[in-house]
Order: sequence, then C-alpha cells, then structure tokens
Amino acid sequence: TAYYKNYDEPVCLPERHIRINPPVAKAKAAIIAVVRNKEQEKMIASIIQLEERFNKNFRYPYVFLNEEPFTDEFKIAVQESAPSSKMDFGLIDKASQWSFPPHVSKEKALQKFDEMSQNNVMFGNMESYHHMCRYQSGFFFDHPLLDGYDWYWRLEPGVKFYCDITYDPFLYMEKHNKQYGFVITLRELSNTVPTLWQTVQRYAKSRHIDISEKNNLLFPYFADNKNDYNMCHFWSNFEIASLNLWRSPQYRDFFNYLDQTGNFFYERWGDAPVHSLAAGLFLTTDQVHYFEDFGYQHDSYRHCPAKGSELGCRCECPSGTTDQSIDHDSFYDTCLPVWRKWIKTTEARKS
Ligand code: GDP
Ligand code: MN
Repeated sequence: TAYYKNYDEPVCLPERHIRINPPVAKAKAAIIAVVRNKEQEKMIASIIQLEERFNKNFRYPYVFLNEEPFTDEFKIAVQESAPSSKMDFGLIDKASQWSFPPHVSKEKALQKFDEMSQNNVMFGNMESYHHMCRYQSGFFFDHPLLDGYDWYWRLEPGVKFYCDITYDPFLYMEKHNKQYGFVITLRELSNTVPTLWQTVQRYAKSRHIDISEKNNLLFPYFADNKNDYNMCHFWSNFEIASLNLWRSPQYRDFFNYLDQTGNFFYERWGDAPVHSLAAGLFLTTDQVHYFEDFGYQHDSYRHCPAKGSELGCRCECPSGTTDQSIDHDSFYDTCLPVWRKWIKTTEARKS
C-alpha cells in the first residue's frame, strides 16, 4: 500500500484516489522541449495530452528551449495551455551551441549536405536539423534553466499519450537505480550514420573501456552477428532520463570525441543513436528502462501496451484496441524483439 502514497511504482489508481492523496514527494525533474515558434499549436497539443494523462496530478515544471527568442504569443499561448504548471522559456546560445564549431569546415559541410541530399539522407540537407541533433546530443543538459534538475522528460510537439500515468516515473527510476528510459526502439536509417559505429569502437579502445563486459549493452544490443552496428536505437523524441548521465565527465568526453570528427555535419548523426550508443557504453542493462506501460505516438509510430497484458492504465489506443503498436507491424523496423531477447538472456544469467 506504500506504493499508493509514494507513487513510485506503476500502479493504476483511480483519479479520485490521487485527488484525495496528492503526491508529496517530488523528483528534481523537468519536462523539456526544444521547439520552434512555428510549432506552437502542436506543442500545445502535446502539453494538453501530457497534462491530462499525467501532469495535472504531478505538476512538474516545463522548460522550453529555442535558438531564436520565443515570441510573446508563443509564451502566452503555451502557458495558457497548462496555467497551473510552472514554465520557463530559454534561449540557446547560438554562437557556441547552434552553429558550425571552429573545427568544422562550413564549406565542406555544405558540400556534404548536397551529397546527402542526392543520396536521400533524411534531413541531410537541412542545416538546422544538424544543429538540433548536435544540441540534443551535447548541450541541452547544460542549459542554465536546468541547473537545479537531475531528471528530464523530453517532449516534442505533436506527440500523443494514450494511457493515464498515475505514478511518478522519475521516482520510479530513482528507486530502481535507472538512468535512461524509452518507449520505442527501432532501426536507424543507416545512411545517416555510416561511420558512427566505427567511431564508437575507436573511442572505446582509446579509453580502454571494456566492451566485452557481460552486462554491458553495447555488443549484446547494438551489434549484429558480424559485430557491425545493427542500427537499433532508443527513439529519443521520448526520453525519461538522468541529466547527470549526460553531465558526467565520461559522457562529455565521448561527445567531444564524436564531435571532433565533424560528422554531426559531414554525416547526419542523430541524437538518438548517439544517446543510445552512449547508454551501451556506460550503462548496464538494468539501468535502462522500457516504459512498456506508456501509450505513446510520434508521427505514425505508436506504442501501446499489449491487450490483456495488464500493463498501462485506462489506455485509449486508436481502433479501440490496446495493441496497435509498431511492434506488431513488420513495416516498421522495430528492435523490440532484439531487446526482449537480450533481457531474457540477462535474466537467465542472473538465475
Ligand atoms: P524528427 O522527430 O526527427 O522528425 O525531428 P523534429 O522536427 O520533430 O525535431 C526534433 C525536436 O527538435 C522537436 O522537438 C522540434 O521541435 C525540435 N527542432 C527541430 N528543429 C529545430 C530548430 O531548428 N529549432 C528549434 N528551436 N527546435 C527544433
Ligand atoms: Mn519529432
């Protein structure tokens, strides 16, 4: 029954219960969105859903970040979409965190953008997208507005939540010693990261990181049977994770190493594979949590808890079912079977 008061276990509680026993304990956590002014309506749509399903009970603050100043219209409209939640609107330091760094040749980058465009590399020709991926990989956790926080929930415009979340996922993660949480895991478009895997291997070698460790994720989850990258990654448009994971000296060193290659621009490295492979290097399997009980959608990619699994709370997934997930559709390149297989292996080893 302690769960019911602490809200640190995934128990599905009636609304009434939460109203009568409002959560007391709070994690040092914020909901973070990197977003453009023009995405105002979609941002609001995401907030309304997250408030309704979760945050009206838990009242975590929001932090919005942008490399352009937010307009008054954006700030007012967004704040009005959740009047009782604290919101901060911050500016990203463009010169140091959202432009070509000194070690990258702008000329070469623009030429690579053209090549990527010819080779149909998704967003390869979009300069802003490269800056965004680099920012989400290497800088967001240092934004001064996040100084007092240990945890974040990444939120994007236009996403959907289909189940009530009647517990505090941050407290759950703290209690169970988790560092990184995901809902969707799938395969990356391989032409965006042609040399990422070899760079990570080189990095591990140069820093003497033992990647053969039994419980290390890097090879068990991310390598194919030829020890090449299998393109699996955690989809970073949703993340609940530790800010301190990315603030650690080892992650900073890793990011700087990757960044020195220039391949956030010469290739189109995404923050999702970067975060994922860092988790592979630095975390044990136990420290990564699959929020299988969340119903979530980004673009046309949806995860809903399987019907009859007792996971999820008051889910209202489209088509009136609770298992309309990409994980049951071979069109989508899900990595969930790879994840499940690895989890089974680790559990077997423990027992
Ligand atoms: P996708 O999810 O990979 O298709 O990429 P998105 O366009 O959704 O971008 C990922 C996140 O970064 C979203 O939260 C966007 O709002 C945000 N974003 C993308 N490009 C920019 C940009 O140029 N400026 C700002 N401020 N945010 C951006
Ligand atoms: Mn998106």
